[in-house]
Amino acid sequence: MAATLVLIEHDRQQVKRPSLHAITLARQLGGEYALLVLGHGLDAIAASLVSCGASAVIVADDAALAEPLADRYAAVIAQAAQKYGAKTLIGSSSTFSKDILPRAAALLDAPMVTDVLALEEVNGERAYRRPTSAGSMLATVKIEGDRCVLTARATAFEAPAADAAPCPIERFDFDPASLPNGMQFISREQRASDRPDLTEARVVVSGGRPLQDPETFERLVGGLADALGGAVGATRAAVDAGMAPNDYQVGQTGKVVAPELYIAMGISGAIQHLAGIKDSRIIVAINKDPDAPIFQMATYGLVGDLHQLVPQLIEAVRRG
Ligand SMILES: Cc1cc2nc3c(=O)[nH]c(=O)nc-3n(C[C@H](O)[C@H](O)[C@H](O)COP(=O)(O)OP(=O)(O)OC[C@H]3O[C@@H](n4cnc5c(N)ncnc54)[C@H](O)[C@@H]3O)c2cc1C
Repeated sequence: MAATLVLIEHDRQQVKRPSLHAITLARQLGGEYALLVLGHGLDAIAASLVSCGASAVIVADDAALAEPLADRYAAVIAQAAQKYGAKTLIGSSSTFSKDILPRAAALLDAPMVTDVLALEEVNGERAYRRPTSAGSMLATVKIEGDRCVLTARATAFEAPAADAAPCPIERFDFDPASLPNGMQFISREQRASDRPDLTEARVVVSGGRPLQDPETFERLVGGLADALGGAVGATRAAVDAGMAPNDYQVGQTGKVVAPELYIAMGISGAIQHLAGIKDSRIIVAINKDPDAPIFQMATYGLVGDLHQLVPQLIEAVRRG
């Protein structure tokens, strides 16, 4: 039995760091928590999790789970929550969780609170703080019933130290033949990159609409990111125009980042973009319009044409 199950996300090679941050929310809730990992060929991933302070690492390992098909994953997660009597199921705020956890919540008939930033207490009862209206307001949410599904915004919780005494790894047995079969895996599109992961990078350089085309985007945004050892992000306008791939998108409907340094290049500062960057420690904006809204949030601003300024900046950083 475990009061809480934390769903661990991985890329088959290693655990995705944001899901470790979700463990901290489980710790703050109190009581025992177990980590739940789904997939196929999970021995190394499971072994890497045993010192995270959980009561167990529960592994659902089967060829039927080789790809994260939401209907199957949700069914297995709901079965595991029921078997272990978990009252709370937690994942990190990610595309993976957005796809899978609402389905698991429906199967468990449990309410869901997404993007949890902190725990609160209202009249002696548990409540959750979460952003609303594209991050322009914070809501305090109370839920009814004793079972719930949460996602934790990784930037709001530190990753715990992995220094606890090793816990057991338990196999979760289920009947693969009983799983839903409504979704078929077709293909995986994956780009090999030496750049750090956008949600984990200490430096993020993002580009907006005036980057014009993929080549210019890569030369200027990618060039500055590489000079600084950072990750590359983009606005939705840049993604929609085909300058940058979809998984570069930062913002309300993209990724939420909180690097030490965020450089916004040719980005106006729409509320939906700011929702994804406002926890960054230092924001540098490069924009030719001195009245662009991004300057209201920026720590430092550079007013000018990015096509002239950024090559000079890259050169200066390279020269050290
Ligand atoms: C429901 C919804 C969800 C959304 N989700 C997201 C999201 O997750 N992420 C996101 O980013 N957007 C999102 N958007 C879109 C958002 O509203 C904006 O349209 C978008 O962020 C604008 O992108 P941009 O800043 O690249 O382009 P623009 O708003 O067109 O801004 C371009 C900026 O570049 C400057 N500029 C132009 N030329 C140069 C130059 N040569 N040198 C320097 N500066 C220059 C301009 O002054 C301007 O400020 C969402 C919108 C909706 C409705």
